[in-house]
Amino acid sequence: MAVIPVSSKYPCAQEHIPMCIKHDLNIDMTCEDCDEFICSQCAKTDHKDHDWKTIPTAGSLRRRELKKTLSKVKENDIAEIDKKMKKASKQKEGNKKCCDSEVSKLQKHYDAIVSKLDEIKKNLETKLVENLERKNAEVSKKKLDLEKKRDHIKDLVEFLEDKHGTMSDYSLIDNLRDLTNLVSNTDSDIERGDHSVRYRGGDISEGSLDSIMGQTFDLDDFRVTETDSFQYGDECLYVFEAIKKDVCLVRALESECMELINIGNKEVEKSNVRGDDVCVTANGDVYATDYDNNCVVRLSPSGSVSTVFSTAPLLPVGICQSTGGLLATLVDDKTKKYHPDSKSRRLVIHVTLTGDVIREYEYQEDDQTMLFTVPWRVKQNGNTDICVVNRTSQSTGELVILSSSGFLKSVYHGQNLNFNPTDVVFASHCNIIVTDFDESKIHLLSPDGEFMKYLLTENEVPNPYSMSLYQSTLWVGDYQGLIKVFQFNNA
Ligand SMILES: [Zn+2]
Ligand SMILES: [Zn+2]
Repeated sequence: MAVIPVSSKYPCAQEHIPMCIKHDLNIDMTCEDCDEFICSQCAKTDHKDHDWKTIPTAGSLRRRELKKTLSKVKENDIAEIDKKMKKASKQKEGNKKCCDSEVSKLQKHYDAIVSKLDEIKKNLETKLVENLERKNAEVSKKKLDLEKKRDHIKDLVEFLEDKHGTMSDYSLIDNLRDLTNLVSNTDSDIERGDHSVRYRGGDISEGSLDSIMGQTFDLDDFRVTETDSFQYGDECLYVFEAIKKDVCLVRALESECMELINIGNKEVEKSNVRGDDVCVTANGDVYATDYDNNCVVRLSPSGSVSTVFSTAPLLPVGICQSTGGLLATLVDDKTKKYHPDSKSRRLVIHVTLTGDVIREYEYQEDDQTMLFTVPWRVKQNGNTDICVVNRTSQSTGELVILSSSGFLKSVYHGQNLNFNPTDVVFASHCNIIVTDFDESKIHLLSPDGEFMKYLLTENEVPNPYSMSLYQSTLWVGDYQGLIKVFQFNNA
């Protein structure tokens, strides 16, 4: 693209004829391929096979085309810039709206914290006031007793003053004894009536306040950069699990067994396991679902395959490691695949590594609404939430997010009607990464399933089908055998 000459280098050929620095000849030619002014020697050497012309020839050509050239600039290029400017104005408006919405979220959260604090403060205050009421009621009662006692003593003293002369000795002694008893009686002690509840303030640590208030984060910081790629046949990469920084287990859609691919030295090694999904435990054991044989199998590090448990009559699809065992998705094959009825079984099971069922996730809290249509892939997030890629038709799906206690937290339906998720993994801070096969996108979601941004789009990942995240390395397998490796720049 030509740069707009602010002060033209060649304002007029007659004014000043520049010289070629290389050949010390007049610059009187122009190379159309290089968009450069050259000398006749340049034309014979560096620009030998290029399309060069003399400046007058090129000039008259340009003059002939000038009207067309300028009107194209006026009609197309300027219009294009206008369009971009309009877009920029819209972007500013959108940014303002987005900022306002985030600020209002912050305000809402702040209000919720304040109202909770208010409640706590009221409870503390109540404890203090209750003590005051109780203590003062006691003190009032004692005060009343004292008043009575004082009056009694006063009466007795008055009586003795008035009557001691006419009183028998016996009576005098008796009355004086009563008086002594009355005076020395300490029943109405008021010492224990003091207010006894105290308040002591807790630590106002900035760390804990920050964690309650939340934080801001910049979506621009969530970036991935491609570091490697590998062509593995030309079929859809159906099963995919990274097991080391540069080694992954892969099965192409029509392939009989999984293979180990070393991206570093490009070696491919056959494994003994066929499987419809696979997971690798912390100690290196590989578990896979065998859809055709209704079972979950284990591939030992030595390469032998054994059945761990049968899922018959249900078919196992997805599998992942879970706290204290495995999670697997199961479906029946007796009822309509995408139109389950009351006889259908569509569930996620949590089992021990030996296949004992710990719990089943099949229905919502009402115990009758099914959670899934066709539960496909299952993965457990770092916060123990269970994320299930739930296929709702041949070409659509959703991401179901359950708490490990079985509570349906949210369902992510994508950014348009054609959402077709095929795999899910988790980034740091429990953020969720999910493929969108038809739209050729990879979505980044918050742990609650709220859309944050597109992490990758069609230019980088055409029709992504499977994913695996090993530490900060994201592997993406597409529908034509292309494996791409990305590195997280941040987070
Ligand atoms: Zn030259
Ligand atoms: Zn040239």
